Amino acid sequence: MNLKGHSEKEVLSRLKNAMQKDTSYDKVMSAMCTQPHPIAVKAHMQFIASNMGDFGLFQGTKELEDKVIKMMGYMLGDGNACGYITTGGTESNIQALRTARNMSKKKRPNMIVPFSAHFSFDKIADLLGIEIRKASLDTEFKVDMDSVSDLIDSNTIALVGIAGSTEFGQIDPIDRLAKLALSNNLFLHVDAAFGGYVIPFLDKKYDFDFSVKGVTSITADPHKMGMSTIPAGGLLFREEACLLPLEIDTPYLTIRKQHSLVGTRSGAAVAAAYAVMTHLGTEGYKEIVKRCMKMTGRLVEGACDLGIDPLIEPAMNIVALDVPDLDDVRKKLRSRGWVTSLTRNPKAMRLIIMPHLTEDTIDSFISDLGECIHDNGGAGGSGCPILHCGEEAYPALK
Ligand SMILES: *Cc1c(COP(=O)(O)O)cnc(C)c1O
Repeated sequence: MNLKGHSEKEVLSRLKNAMQKDTSYDKVMSAMCTQPHPIAVKAHMQFIASNMGDFGLFQGTKELEDKVIKMMGYMLGDGNACGYITTGGTESNIQALRTARNMSKKKRPNMIVPFSAHFSFDKIADLLGIEIRKASLDTEFKVDMDSVSDLIDSNTIALVGIAGSTEFGQIDPIDRLAKLALSNNLFLHVDAAFGGYVIPFLDKKYDFDFSVKGVTSITADPHKMGMSTIPAGGLLFREEACLLPLEIDTPYLTIRKQHSLVGTRSGAAVAAAYAVMTHLGTEGYKEIVKRCMKMTGRLVEGACDLGIDPLIEPAMNIVALDVPDLDDVRKKLRSRGWVTSLTRNPKAMRLIIMPHLTEDTIDSFISDLGECIHDNGGAGGSGCPILHCGEEAYPALK
C-alpha cells in the first residue's frame, strides 16, 4: 500500500482505467449474469453498509429478506417455503447438501447428480466429504432415470435435479426424480440457479418446483436472470426443519443463531433483490423472459439459415450450436469482439441470450458467424445434433 493517500480524483481515474479493461456486456454471449436492473443498483447503494451476518442490527433489511424469500416461495410453488439469501448458486447448493448430509447421519454418504450438474457439486463432494456419483444423460441431455436408479444404494443421501442446466439450459424430469426420491426416502435438491427466474415465466409449463411433492430444496439466483446485483443467490426449503442442521450459536452477535455459510453477508444484495422483484412483478419478469426467448428464436433461425443445427431445441435462453471448426471460429469471433463459450460433451458453441443483448446484436452476431464459417469453407453438417433445422420448427420459441 502507498504511504500517503492518493487524491479522490487520482483514485477514480485509476478505477476508470481498470474498468476499461473489463469486457462490457454488449457482445458477451457467454455470461449467466447481466447488467442489473437500475432499481436494484439504487437499492444496493442505499443499503451498502447493511450486514445480514448480524441482522439484529439491521431489522429493516431482515424484513426485506423475509419478503424476498416469501416472493421466491410463491414463484417456486410454495409461499410457505423458508430460506435465506446466499452469495450465489454455489453457497445455496453447498448448504442444501450440508442439510441433507447432517439430517441423514450416514457415515459414508453419497449423492447422485446428473453429468450436466454445475461444478459446484464437485466442490461440495470435496468440502462435505460426500461421494459424488454422476448419472448419465439421455439424448436430449436430461438425466437418465435408469442411470439414477442404478446408482442409488444404502449410503445415498440425496438426489439432485437440474432445472436449467448451465451448459444446455435443459430441465431434468423433476417429477420422476421426486417419485424416486420419495420411494427411497431421499432428499431431492433442485438446482434452478439459472432457471429459477426463467421457467416460472415461460409459456410452456414444467413441473420443477415445490408444487412437485418430494422436492426438498431449491436453488434460484437473483443475480442471474433475477436482474439483481451480485452477490445474491437464494436457497429455499419446503420445511423449516431443514434450516436446523445449518444453525450455529453466535454468542457475540445481536442474534443468537445463524444459518448462513458466510458470516458477514450483504444486506445490499437483499435490498436489491427486494427492489427489482417488487418493481418488475410477475408481469415484468414475463416480459423479460419473453424478449430473451424471442431473441433466442431469432438466433436459432439465423444459425439454421447458415446450415448450423442446435443440439437440442432450447428450453430456455441457452443455445448449443453445432458449429464446424469450433475452436477456430470462436477465435475469429473473439477478434471481432464476441465472447462465446463451450459445452463439454459433445463440444459445441454455447450461447446465453441474456437481457443485455438486443435483436440488432443477434443479427450482427449471425452475420459475423456466417463470415467466420465461410472463411473456413462453410458448414458441412457434422451429423452430431439430434435435431436438424426445419424438422421441429422449434415450437417453444414461437
Ligand atoms: C451458475 C450456476 C451455479 C453457480 O452459481 P454461482 O452464483 O456462480 O455460485 C450453480 N448451478 C447452476 C445450474 C448454475 O447455472
